[in-house]
Amino acid sequence: MKLLIARPMTAAVEARARAEFDTEIRTSTAPMTEAEMLRALSEFDIVMPTLGDMFSAGVFAQVPEPRCRLLANFGVGYNHIDVAAARGAGVAVSNTPGAVTDATADIAMTLLLMTARRAGEGERLVRSGRWEGWHPTQMLGHHVTGKHVGIVGLGRIGQAIARRCHFGFGMQVSYVARSDKDVDFPATRMDSLAVLAGAVDFLVVAVPGGAETRHLIDAQVLAAMKPSGILVNIARGEVVDEAALIAALSEGQIAGAGLDVYEFEPKVPEALRAMEQVTLLPHLGTATEEVRTGMGHMAMDNVAAFVAGRDLPNPVA
Ligand code: NAP
Repeated sequence: MKLLIARPMTAAVEARARAEFDTEIRTSTAPMTEAEMLRALSEFDIVMPTLGDMFSAGVFAQVPEPRCRLLANFGVGYNHIDVAAARGAGVAVSNTPGAVTDATADIAMTLLLMTARRAGEGERLVRSGRWEGWHPTQMLGHHVTGKHVGIVGLGRIGQAIARRCHFGFGMQVSYVARSDKDVDFPATRMDSLAVLAGAVDFLVVAVPGGAETRHLIDAQVLAAMKPSGILVNIARGEVVDEAALIAALSEGQIAGAGLDVYEFEPKVPEALRAMEQVTLLPHLGTATEEVRTGMGHMAMDNVAAFVAGRDLPNPVA
């Protein structure tokens, strides 16, 4: 069984892959080119792709009888893979749910706090050498404790964020999802995204990417937010209409935004980069050694199950 891993991994993951499988590991950190994806489908039994490897219907159409039988995605989000086209080509898909949850929720809180309390701006001020000292009205931000947070998509990560907001910051939690959630803290499901957006101080986006959620946060949702409202996105860039977000921020319709992901990643519009009220992180959600190793092991567990003829632990529906 030949395995292709699409990016360099942590040492622990690379060691396991090489010990257990006939493994090739790409040395590039950039997404796979179309030519590389065609080779991957033709010459390997299993591929471990990740964010940015666009396994589209067009790619599968060019390899009608792939040697590859499993895309063991490294990451919980798999919106870069056309799952229906994969299935049509006889290629199963798995992902790494759970391994990413707490780390991504922590980054959501980082963005919420940094944006509300102007931490990025303050850090830039200190670094610039222009800070003139404390005074009672210096850099007043938005209070966080006890405020109202709205979670868009109360799944694994959404719930971990809500739990932090409730237990750590005494916040009121409201949400929208496709179904009611049974959670161990008070949380109100709102009738619509617009109602949620209008009610809360912080709107945190935690839905999967893909066609169904593209531009879910659009000009109407942003217009419904309070002028003091802050948007946080740790989901996928395409879930937020970035042009509408820039307009809403420029016009003062909302107070700020904390972003880990971007619509045309890694391109970040100059307009956003110029705004002090925006916190910009380079997709750090799961970026710790432990978490990336945990994700790698989970992806590898799917590879091992596949090789042994067992059910995949984390199949993608
Ligand atoms: P999950 O457990 O599947 O949760 C997703 C939630 O979104 C579910 O509650 C689902 O509702 C809800 N949802 C789906 N479509 C919706 C819609 N159209 N409107 C409202 N709610 C909708 O997934 P997760 O593990 O929390 O991960 C969520 C996403 O976070 C991933 O898909 C990935 O793209 C992103 N992510 C980002 C990073 C990062 O580094 N920034 C790291 C990890 C993950 P139902 O349960 O009712 O269906």
